[in-house]
Amino acid sequence: MSLKYTTVDDIPQIHQDLRRAFRTGKTKSIAFRKQQLLNLCYLVEDNWERIKDAFFADLGRPREEAQLLELNGTLGELKEAYDNVEKWAAPEKAPFSWLWFAMSPTIRNESKGVVLLISPFNYPLYLLLCPLAGAIASGNAVLMKPSELSPAMAALLTELVPRYLDPELYQVVNGGIPETTKILELPFDHILYTGGGRVARVVLAAAARHLTPVTLELGGKSPCVIDPKCDVKTAAKRIMWGKLVNAGQLCLSPDYVLVPEWFQETFVEALKNAYYELHPIDPKVSGQVTRMVNESHAARVKALIDNTKGTIVFGGEVDMETKYAAPTLIKDVRGDDSLMSEELFAPFLPVVPVKDVDEAIEFINERDHPLNIYVFTNNSAFKEKVFSNTRSGTAAANDTILHVMAYGMPFGGVGGSGTGCTTGKYIFDTFTHKRCTTDSPGWLDPALMAARYTPYNKSAFRL
Ligand code: NAD
Repeated sequence: MSLKYTTVDDIPQIHQDLRRAFRTGKTKSIAFRKQQLLNLCYLVEDNWERIKDAFFADLGRPREEAQLLELNGTLGELKEAYDNVEKWAAPEKAPFSWLWFAMSPTIRNESKGVVLLISPFNYPLYLLLCPLAGAIASGNAVLMKPSELSPAMAALLTELVPRYLDPELYQVVNGGIPETTKILELPFDHILYTGGGRVARVVLAAAARHLTPVTLELGGKSPCVIDPKCDVKTAAKRIMWGKLVNAGQLCLSPDYVLVPEWFQETFVEALKNAYYELHPIDPKVSGQVTRMVNESHAARVKALIDNTKGTIVFGGEVDMETKYAAPTLIKDVRGDDSLMSEELFAPFLPVVPVKDVDEAIEFINERDHPLNIYVFTNNSAFKEKVFSNTRSGTAAANDTILHVMAYGMPFGGVGGSGTGCTTGKYIFDTFTHKRCTTDSPGWLDPALMAARYTPYNKSAFRL
């Protein structure tokens, strides 16, 4: 299926139509929102196999992995929005106060208007449909811009969205930089951008022109800190598995490992064993590891591995023709290595030897706050030391990736890894204006509020 880009000149009209549709007030009805959310669940359920085909076409992604991690996760988020929309959207009473209760202070959870979602290639279903569910639940109209780097998924969603959702309120616009630049010239009521930090700066600058609030879901280099007394076998397996999900093209990927120098050989051996256990057949032929998304990313990761000064333990090959990057373990990697210069987004796992946990913490703190920090230890003091002396969007002990699925938890970055949260109730709140409202009865003046009026007198009370 080929992806047809939206004509740049049509984009302002699409935006205008969304604004007009929002103003009709159709999205105020909770029943309408629920129906749209249900339709969105059906979009996923009815097209389960076609969605897996699209993952495979774009990324050569194993169908089981796509189902386990992305399709299931997407449906879970959609159902959560469907199940909770009445509760989330209901007005909230302010905490009781004798001084103010008579004004009926109430927070109305109001839709912001027209929301823009810009999503990346690597989790192209989850990262578009989950925020979409939050935007529908909060009663917004939505303009979606899927990544042009995953064209099969973008084309599929372009076909399906108008078949399942109200086309007046939810529109997909396709394209690359010229189309996205045009979109960003227009005023939105909120922008959610998921992608890399470089483009995030472009989005923020464009949003500033209209004072549009922006949520940024970015990435970064997520480290694993190893306590030598951890359950080494399990740690190695969970890190290696997490690294190879989607061939490392995941914002949650463990990017590199920090290990005490004296323990490096033992841990590298454990990582090697874990890899051969997870991949008894070479993934180049088994099809159990995703490909790089395109030639330019394959070339980027090839340059990173070709220029490393670390020692390659296994792997190291990038086949430009098939865009296959071999799972690669590299030891003795230093902070100034090519592999440490940017978020890898590749199935490469550098092991960086450090003196001890203090040096590991310093190493992390010298860099941008990562999206995730992973700690492997059975010692709660060790875990607490790492958690409380670093900053990151999320932090997980003794596992990788799965923590993001824990029900009811916020997910989002901090500093260089983003701002704001995008799951469950948190994404609903992101797209909601918390409107403070009151209603003051006339009897309030003699009873409580007369002292505000001039001329002031000495009876003015103080708290
Ligand atoms: P990207 O920044 O290249 O592209 C993301 C989106 O921005 C695409 O829709 C693209 O069309 C658009 N875009 C690209 N250049 C643009 C420009 N000059 N002006 C306007 N729009 C432009 O990101 P990517 O390579 O698709 O995704 C990888 C990044 O996304 C990684 O850094 C990863 O960590 C991050 N990510 C973060 C999360 C999260 O939830 N925090 C999830 C997935 C991916």
